[in-house]
Amino acid sequence: MTDRKQITPTHAYRNNDKLVGIGNTFWDMSERNGLAGIVADLDDGVLRTRPGLEYAAAGHEFVNFSCCSYLDLDTHPKVIEGGVEALRRYGVLDHCIARSRVQIPAMLELEDSLSELLGATVVCAISASTATFGLLPLIASGHLGNGTRPLMIFDRYAHISMANVKPVCADETEVVTSPHHDLDFIEDACKKYARVAYVCDGSDSLGGYAPVRELAALQDKYGLLVYYDDSHSMSAYGERGIGYVRSHSPVLDERTIVVMTLNKAFGTSGAAIVLDGYSKQTLRVIERFGGALNYSQLLNTAACGAGLASAEIHRTGELTELQDRLYRNIALFDSLVGTDQAGSTYPIRLVPMSDATVIEAGRTVFEAGFYVSPVFFPIVPRGTAGLRVMLRAGHTEEQIRDLCAVLTGVGAPAGAVEPEPVR
Ligand SMILES: *Cc1c(COP(=O)(O)O)cnc(C)c1O
Repeated sequence: MTDRKQITPTHAYRNNDKLVGIGNTFWDMSERNGLAGIVADLDDGVLRTRPGLEYAAAGHEFVNFSCCSYLDLDTHPKVIEGGVEALRRYGVLDHCIARSRVQIPAMLELEDSLSELLGATVVCAISASTATFGLLPLIASGHLGNGTRPLMIFDRYAHISMANVKPVCADETEVVTSPHHDLDFIEDACKKYARVAYVCDGSDSLGGYAPVRELAALQDKYGLLVYYDDSHSMSAYGERGIGYVRSHSPVLDERTIVVMTLNKAFGTSGAAIVLDGYSKQTLRVIERFGGALNYSQLLNTAACGAGLASAEIHRTGELTELQDRLYRNIALFDSLVGTDQAGSTYPIRLVPMSDATVIEAGRTVFEAGFYVSPVFFPIVPRGTAGLRVMLRAGHTEEQIRDLCAVLTGVGAPAGAVEPEPVR
């Protein structure tokens, strides 16, 4: 069979040999050390591993410091009740038909509510990744935008859910990758191309926010279109939890498209595509041609009901209270453990460790009753290993103090920032 053709891939935009080769080593090592593949039940905010687990002792209790439900809305009684109530009211979890043909009103209700909350037009999707996979190719072809095919600039650190769509976009237009937040790179492109679209995170997964004001200047000067994935700051940031981009970007019109997961601080499922200034016709194109946005699976009824309940909480002082509690917890952490992210309202901290010690440190922390995620080479560059800590509103002062004591015991630098609310 040696005469049969072997395929040589171009790997212009992705390379699974590299991705799986590198990623699997990381995951295997994490799992061997009992820091991945954990199965646990939730009990009063504390996770208890089930009996019979290979790596963690049966009944081992730990506080999860690696969960993105920053406001703990995922376990809020009203959110749970909202999901159950909607399911009862509509009597179906998922009515399998494309929304452009027939839909029950559940997702429309949620879209109306989120549109009011965000002061924009919201289209829902089953996840942010799904939304991105549907929208970016439409931007590439100019169907979502002003009709001109844009040069598409993907930020080097754009979340994988965006980077994954490069090859699809490249079949519709030209695609390039820019250095992180490189405004000169973007402006140079704007001078050369009739239309440019820039794709980036609104809030980066290790702190730092997109330069929304500088980008707005380019939007005004050149008509630059910016696609922001602001998943990490939805609910956790801004008045009524509208996120970083919608709080700070001076350009909130058809030149700014924001997608945000509803699965992190918002506490439910799905995603919101946030649009301003697009015609009904364009909205229909999105619904009809945005890939999985128009397959048979909508945001299911329970997710819609839970989302409505969460959106209601966003309209009350309870949201501000939860945000303040989160910020106080972050500030307390910063006062006890030093990280590069200290001082920001961002809920993720990377406690630096060496590649050689990080797994052992993660194990020690886990055995002491806390789960934090170790990240190390090869999943991150050499020299940037560490324990990733995610803080939540529901963590108690005692839990944070105890975690920080354990972290300093495994070599974390002491904190310096005063424990002041950092709103
Ligand atoms: C978590 C995250 C996602 C994934 O969201 P899903 O709704 O699960 O697809 C996408 N983008 C960013 C920036 C994220 O942080």
